[in-house]
Amino acid sequence: MIPYYSPHFSVADLLKTIFCKNAEDKLCNYFKKLTGKKYVLITSSCRSALYLAYQSIEKKGIVHTSPLTCKVSLLPIIASGNQIYFNDIKKDDWTIDPSTIPASISKKSVAIQAIHFGGFPCDMRSLRKIANDYKLILIEDCAQGFGSFNNKIISGSFGDISCFSLTKNLYGIGGGIFATNNEEWFNKAQKIQMSFPREKYYKIFYRILSSALLSSNLFIIYNVLKKINYIYVSIYHHLNNNIKNQMSVELRKELIKPPRLYSKYFVVRLQKMLKLIDKRKSIANLIKIQLNKSKYIFQYSDNNISSYAKLYTVNQDYQSVNLIRLLRKDGIECMHLSHKFGELYQKKLIPQFEIDRKAYKNYSLIHDNLLSIPLNESMTAELLNKMISILKRRGI
Ligand SMILES: *Cc1c(COP(=O)(O)O)cnc(C)c1O
Repeated sequence: MIPYYSPHFSVADLLKTIFCKNAEDKLCNYFKKLTGKKYVLITSSCRSALYLAYQSIEKKGIVHTSPLTCKVSLLPIIASGNQIYFNDIKKDDWTIDPSTIPASISKKSVAIQAIHFGGFPCDMRSLRKIANDYKLILIEDCAQGFGSFNNKIISGSFGDISCFSLTKNLYGIGGGIFATNNEEWFNKAQKIQMSFPREKYYKIFYRILSSALLSSNLFIIYNVLKKINYIYVSIYHHLNNNIKNQMSVELRKELIKPPRLYSKYFVVRLQKMLKLIDKRKSIANLIKIQLNKSKYIFQYSDNNISSYAKLYTVNQDYQSVNLIRLLRKDGIECMHLSHKFGELYQKKLIPQFEIDRKAYKNYSLIHDNLLSIPLNESMTAELLNKMISILKRRGI
C-alpha cells in the first residue's frame, strides 16, 4: 500500500528530548515571532486551542466559516455552545469566500473562523476588514496553514486568535498553539487549560507507538492497534452515555494539559520539520506536472505561497467515496477531507445543510468529487511512478 501520509517519527529525536531545556519558552518564542502575537499558549492540539479560543472570548452566537473542511475544525465551535453558518468557498483556492459573508451576518453573529485549506491561506485582508466593519472576532485555524502566505500576509498574523497544530504538517507527536494579542483572552484560556486533566501516560505511549508504526510502514500492526483503540473508545462512550452531546465527547479527549514532551520533541526537530515541508512541496510539484491537469490538480495559485502541501484532485466522473475504494484496491491510500470519507458530517452539524446545499455553488462542485492523494516525502522514484501510472489509469 502506498501510504497517504507519514509522520516521520524518529526514535533518536525522541531520546534527544531528554536533554532539551526550556522547550516551552523556545516553542512560544518561535510562534510569537511567526505570528507577531504577544501571547502564546501551548495546547494539547489545534482542536484544544480552538476550543479555548471560543471559551475565552466569552461570546456565544453564530460563527461564519467554510463547509469544505474536516470535522475536527468545526467541533470546537459547536462544543463551546455556538452555531455554525456556512459560507460558500472561492472557486480558485477553495477557502471561504469573503464576499458572501456580509449578506449573511445577523445580530447573532459573533465570529468568523478562517480555515486555511491544504496549505492555502484564506483572503485575510478581506476577512479582517469584514470583521472590523461588523465587530466580529476573527479566529484563524492554521492547522493546515503553517508558514503559508497570501499577498505577503503570513497565516496566523491577522486573526484575533490564531490556532496551530504541531502534528500533521509539522510532524510532531502532539500539541497545538493558541496565539493572540489580547491579554484578557490569553489569561482566560490559560486558566481554563489549567483546569483540564493531565494526559494519561498510556495515551502518550499510544501516540508515539502509532507514529512509529506509521513511519515504518507497519500498517497491519497499526491498523490492529487502531481497531483496539476504536473498540475501547466505543465501549467507553457507551458506558458514559450520560454524556449526551456526541460532539463534546469527541472533543473532550483533546481537552488536556499539553505534556511537556510534545514541546520538547518539536524543538528538537524544528529544522528537520522545515526541511520535510520543503521536500513535500517539491514532490507535490513533481506529481502535479505528471498528472492530467484537466482534472484539476490543486496545489499552487498565483497569489499564494502554500506551505503544507496537499494534492487534491476533482474528478467529476467519480464520486470520491467510490474512487477512494477503487484506489485502495489498487494499493493507493487516498482520502477525502477526513478519514471518515463517506460521511457528509455537515448534515449532522446543521440539519438544513443538505436542503440548502444548492445555495453553495462552488462547494457543491467540489465536495463530492474531491480526492486527496498521497504525498509522502520518503517515496522512491519507483513508487512515485507506480502511483502516477495507477492514477492515470483511473482517469486522474
Ligand atoms: C487537523 C486539523 C485540525 C485539528 O488539529 P489537531 O492538532 O489534530 O487538533 C483543525 N483544523 C484543521 C483544518 C485540520 O486539518
